Amino acid sequence: MFKNISKIILILLLLFLSLHVSTNSSFASIIVTPKPFINSKIVVPPSAYTLFNLPYLQRGASVAFQISVLTGGNRDVNVFFLNSEGIMYFKKGLSVNQYGRLVKNSASFSFPINKTDNYYLVIDNRFSLLTSKQVSILAHYPPWEEENYKTTKKYYEELYSFLGNTFIFRDFNIKATYCQGQANAFYDPRSNSIIICHEHEEKTFSITRDYNMTSNISRWVFYHELGHALLYQWGLPGWDSEDRVDEFATVILLMEGDYKPILDMAKYYMTTFDWDEVEAKVFMDDRHALTPQRARNLINWFNNPNDLLRRWQTTFVPRSRTEFLLKLYGEKSYKSWVDSSLITEELKKRGERQDKRTSKIMQKSQKINKTMAKEKNDFDILLSEEIKDKWSGVKLIIEDKVLNETQEVSININDEYNIPDSSLKIKVGFFLPDFKRRERTITSVSNNPNNPVAGVQIIDNGRKIFPKVGEWGWMYAEFPSIYPFQHKRFGVILKEGIKK
Ligand SMILES: [Zn+2]
Repeated sequence: MFKNISKIILILLLLFLSLHVSTNSSFASIIVTPKPFINSKIVVPPSAYTLFNLPYLQRGASVAFQISVLTGGNRDVNVFFLNSEGIMYFKKGLSVNQYGRLVKNSASFSFPINKTDNYYLVIDNRFSLLTSKQVSILAHYPPWEEENYKTTKKYYEELYSFLGNTFIFRDFNIKATYCQGQANAFYDPRSNSIIICHEHEEKTFSITRDYNMTSNISRWVFYHELGHALLYQWGLPGWDSEDRVDEFATVILLMEGDYKPILDMAKYYMTTFDWDEVEAKVFMDDRHALTPQRARNLINWFNNPNDLLRRWQTTFVPRSRTEFLLKLYGEKSYKSWVDSSLITEELKKRGERQDKRTSKIMQKSQKINKTMAKEKNDFDILLSEEIKDKWSGVKLIIEDKVLNETQEVSININDEYNIPDSSLKIKVGFFLPDFKRRERTITSVSNNPNNPVAGVQIIDNGRKIFPKVGEWGWMYAEFPSIYPFQHKRFGVILKEGIKK
């Protein structure tokens, strides 16, 4: 599911036209507003120039200008359209004439955007020694296509409807808009609105240069803001605590089995990015103190989902829709984080106990309960024959931190490998090319290596040391820094699956 959502969020990067969208809900409004065109009248003094900053314009688009010199001298100015490099040359006094033109009286023209970058429009009156110029500037960004509008509308409607079917809350508004250059996302209690600035996503993209990662991060940020919104509405004390709201975002995503935003957010914090830069660009809201601890929190929660989910059940159960509670009660996959007794108590309070349907579901789930008790720490692994037929084994990279060497080894599924010169043995149980986890169920949603994961055990002198809890430990090829095997001498990383 998150693949489609990634695509949809990606489209947000490209939206430029004004659209007012209302949801099926009678009170909530979802509004998407455009980047304002430059629409400005200025006076440029003699021997001077004026700059307009056009942040993060996307490659492949173009900007159309309509510029008129209203008064002053010969009614002429030089106009330059420069990227971040060009503006440096310009400021050093070097020639940038190929990016500019003379405008006399009035002119309409457009400049193509050859790379995604910060751009500048320069209205240059330096050649005029005595007269100032009054100039009007109108700039257009390309219009957003009808198809994109529909997809974005649908994305928010689906998200909102999922939330509405899950939790009890007063309707709130979602506003996706340009915020005059502020790369921000926040919940405003006064207007009861989550405001997502397009600049936020644009800047995230400018840092990651990766569409999927950007959309995953945006999704995580939305759920973070949702945490502020719902905890505020529910009258809970931690609504403005960043840690608590980070937990909220993580819990909801884990409940949905949509873990990529969590990992990408952690990766984003931990990898190549400068902390001050990320803080300034992504979390302009000063409540968001961004530290490496925040990334470590995400990874800890991700690796111990049950601790987190169990901690939150007392918050969620009383604020969940009855339908959702009934579903929880009936669904095996959720059982490990919700106490049946908590749901029973809640439903009892709501007078659902007499409902025939309820008791039927409860009977059914009691059976499931018994089975679940046995498998407490284990996952159900569902693999189609097609997947089993295609993959014969995995390639692992073994790092020897003492000898400072790495070696690549191929191990067949259901085989074992002894790491030379050590007491360690690696056993490979599974390979999932397109891993997806929904609470206690693990599966591969396709046969393509979109998210390769191996299920392994590491045994030291006959004693299983990885994973510490449960039967199989999961190694993510895409997120090697997140694999949880820790050993003084050896590191083990999944490289890829081996096809039959
Ligand atoms: Zn926040």
